[in-house]
Amino acid sequence: MDNECWEAVGTEVQPGDAASDRLDFDPSASAERVVAWLASGGLRPTRQRRLLATLLIGDGRDRHVTAESLHEAAQRVAGKVSLATVYNTLRAFTAAGLLTEVMVHGARSHFDTRTDDHPHFYFEDEGRLVDAPPLEMAFARLPETPRGTEIAKIDVVIRLRRCRDAEQGA
Ligand SMILES: [Zn+2]
Repeated sequence: MDNECWEAVGTEVQPGDAASDRLDFDPSASAERVVAWLASGGLRPTRQRRLLATLLIGDGRDRHVTAESLHEAAQRVAGKVSLATVYNTLRAFTAAGLLTEVMVHGARSHFDTRTDDHPHFYFEDEGRLVDAPPLEMAFARLPETPRGTEIAKIDVVIRLRRCRDAEQGA
Protein backbone atom coordinates (compact mmCIF):
# COMPACT_ATOMS: atom_id res chain seq x y z
CA MET A 1 0.00 0.00 0.00
CA ASP A 2 1.29 3.45 -0.82
CA ASN A 3 1.38 5.40 2.42
CA GLU A 4 3.48 8.27 1.24
CA CYS A 5 0.72 10.83 1.62
CA TRP A 6 -0.13 9.81 5.16
CA GLU A 7 3.46 9.65 6.34
CA ALA A 8 4.33 13.00 4.86
CA VAL A 9 1.77 14.75 7.02
CA GLY A 10 3.59 16.53 9.83
CA THR A 11 0.72 17.45 12.05
CA GLU A 12 -2.31 15.49 13.02
CA VAL A 13 -5.28 16.79 11.08
CA GLN A 14 -8.37 17.23 13.20
CA PRO A 15 -11.21 17.79 10.79
CA GLY A 16 -13.85 17.77 13.48
CA ASP A 17 -12.16 20.29 15.71
CA ALA A 18 -13.52 23.67 14.76
CA ALA A 19 -13.47 24.96 18.31
CA SER A 20 -11.32 27.95 17.51
CA ASP A 21 -13.82 29.22 14.98
CA ARG A 22 -16.91 28.55 17.05
CA LEU A 23 -19.22 31.53 17.24
CA ASP A 24 -20.50 31.44 20.78
CA PHE A 25 -22.09 34.57 22.08
CA ASP A 26 -20.28 35.57 25.20
CA PRO A 27 -22.44 38.02 27.13
CA SER A 28 -19.44 39.06 29.18
CA ALA A 29 -17.56 39.92 26.00
CA SER A 30 -16.01 43.29 26.21
CA ALA A 31 -18.37 45.93 24.84
CA GLU A 32 -15.45 48.32 24.95
CA ARG A 33 -13.39 46.06 22.77
CA VAL A 34 -16.20 45.81 20.26
CA VAL A 35 -16.80 49.56 20.12
CA ALA A 36 -13.06 50.26 19.89
CA TRP A 37 -12.72 47.71 17.09
CA LEU A 38 -15.52 49.38 15.12
CA ALA A 39 -14.07 52.82 15.81
CA SER A 40 -10.66 51.71 14.54
CA GLY A 41 -12.36 51.11 11.20
CA GLY A 42 -14.22 54.40 11.40
CA LEU A 43 -17.57 52.65 11.82
CA ARG A 44 -20.39 53.78 14.03
CA PRO A 45 -21.44 51.17 16.58
CA THR A 46 -24.95 50.42 15.35
CA ARG A 47 -26.84 47.63 17.08
CA GLN A 48 -26.40 45.26 14.16
CA ARG A 49 -22.69 45.95 13.85
CA ARG A 50 -22.17 45.51 17.58
CA LEU A 51 -23.94 42.17 17.51
CA LEU A 52 -21.84 40.82 14.65
CA ALA A 53 -18.63 42.35 15.97
CA THR A 54 -19.27 40.73 19.35
CA LEU A 55 -19.57 37.35 17.68
CA LEU A 56 -16.45 37.99 15.63
CA ILE A 57 -14.01 39.51 18.10
CA GLY A 58 -15.89 39.79 21.41
CA ASP A 59 -13.69 37.21 23.10
CA GLY A 60 -10.51 38.75 21.69
CA ARG A 61 -9.61 35.71 19.61
CA ASP A 62 -9.15 35.51 15.86
CA ARG A 63 -11.50 33.44 13.76
CA HIS A 64 -12.57 32.68 10.23
CA VAL A 65 -16.21 32.87 9.24
CA THR A 66 -18.41 32.69 6.21
CA ALA A 67 -21.47 34.89 5.86
CA GLU A 68 -23.51 31.72 6.41
CA SER A 69 -21.77 30.67 9.62
CA LEU A 70 -22.00 34.15 11.08
CA HIS A 71 -25.63 34.45 10.02
CA GLU A 72 -26.46 31.22 11.80
CA ALA A 73 -24.77 32.41 14.97
CA ALA A 74 -26.43 35.82 14.80
CA GLN A 75 -29.86 34.24 14.46
CA ARG A 76 -29.21 32.02 17.46
CA VAL A 77 -28.50 35.10 19.51
CA ALA A 78 -30.78 37.77 18.13
CA GLY A 79 -33.56 36.03 16.28
CA LYS A 80 -34.18 37.31 12.84
CA VAL A 81 -31.18 38.80 11.13
CA SER A 82 -31.09 38.60 7.36
CA LEU A 83 -28.26 36.95 5.51
CA ALA A 84 -28.05 40.05 3.31
CA THR A 85 -27.46 42.22 6.38
CA VAL A 86 -24.74 39.90 7.62
CA TYR A 87 -23.14 39.86 4.19
CA ASN A 88 -23.28 43.64 3.81
CA THR A 89 -21.87 44.12 7.29
CA LEU A 90 -19.01 41.72 6.57
CA ARG A 91 -18.33 43.71 3.40
CA ALA A 92 -18.36 46.96 5.37
CA PHE A 93 -15.97 45.51 7.99
CA THR A 94 -13.69 44.34 5.19
CA ALA A 95 -13.77 47.69 3.40
CA ALA A 96 -12.90 49.34 6.73
CA GLY A 97 -9.84 47.10 7.06
CA LEU A 98 -11.21 45.23 10.07
CA LEU A 99 -11.44 41.90 8.26
CA THR A 100 -9.62 40.24 5.41
CA GLU A 101 -11.57 38.38 2.80
CA VAL A 102 -9.88 35.13 1.91
CA MET A 103 -10.77 33.88 -1.52
CA VAL A 104 -10.76 30.16 -2.01
CA HIS A 105 -11.46 29.32 -5.61
CA GLY A 106 -14.75 27.56 -6.00
CA ALA A 107 -15.80 28.13 -2.41
CA ARG A 108 -17.73 30.66 -0.37
CA SER A 109 -15.92 33.76 0.73
CA HIS A 110 -14.24 33.43 4.07
CA PHE A 111 -13.63 36.40 6.32
CA ASP A 112 -10.72 36.52 8.71
CA THR A 113 -10.40 38.72 11.79
CA ARG A 114 -6.63 38.45 11.42
CA THR A 115 -5.63 41.09 8.91
CA ASP A 116 -1.88 40.52 8.58
CA ASP A 117 -0.55 38.34 5.75
CA HIS A 118 -0.59 34.70 6.77
CA PRO A 119 -1.04 31.37 5.00
CA HIS A 120 -4.14 29.23 5.30
CA PHE A 121 -5.05 25.60 5.14
CA TYR A 122 -8.34 24.90 3.41
CA PHE A 123 -10.01 21.55 4.08
CA GLU A 124 -11.69 20.82 0.78
CA ASP A 125 -13.95 18.12 2.22
CA GLU A 126 -15.38 20.39 4.90
CA GLY A 127 -15.04 23.79 3.29
CA ARG A 128 -13.17 24.94 6.39
CA LEU A 129 -10.36 27.48 6.53
CA VAL A 130 -7.73 27.61 9.30
CA ASP A 131 -4.42 29.38 9.77
CA ALA A 132 -1.38 27.43 8.67
CA PRO A 133 1.83 27.68 10.69
CA PRO A 134 3.47 30.74 9.10
CA LEU A 135 7.03 29.98 10.15
CA GLU A 136 7.09 26.81 8.14
CA MET A 137 6.64 28.60 4.86
CA ALA A 138 9.25 30.25 2.72
CA PHE A 139 9.27 31.32 -0.86
CA ALA A 140 12.45 30.43 -2.65
CA ARG A 141 11.56 32.55 -5.64
CA LEU A 142 8.82 34.87 -6.70
CA PRO A 143 8.18 35.94 -10.26
CA GLU A 144 9.29 39.41 -11.23
CA THR A 145 6.41 41.82 -11.24
CA PRO A 146 5.53 43.74 -14.37
CA ARG A 147 7.20 47.10 -14.76
CA GLY A 148 5.69 49.79 -12.56
CA THR A 149 4.06 47.35 -10.16
CA GLU A 150 4.93 45.84 -6.82
CA ILE A 151 3.48 42.97 -4.82
CA ALA A 152 0.66 44.29 -2.63
CA LYS A 153 -0.17 41.02 -0.94
CA ILE A 154 0.48 37.33 -1.35
CA ASP A 155 -2.47 35.08 -0.70
CA VAL A 156 -1.55 31.55 0.15
CA VAL A 157 -4.29 28.97 0.51
CA ILE A 158 -3.02 25.43 0.76
CA ARG A 159 -5.86 23.12 -0.16
CA LEU A 160 -5.99 19.87 1.77
CA ARG A 161 -7.74 16.61 1.17
CA ARG A 162 -7.70 13.53 3.32
CA CYS A 163 -5.16 10.95 2.37
CA ARG A 164 -6.87 7.94 0.85
CA ASP A 165 -5.33 5.59 3.37
CA ALA A 166 -6.06 7.75 6.37
CA GLU A 167 -9.59 6.57 6.89
CA GLN A 168 -8.47 2.99 7.03
CA GLY A 169 -6.08 3.88 9.83
CA ALA A 170 -3.01 3.22 7.71
ZN1 LIG B 1 -6.44 33.34 8.99
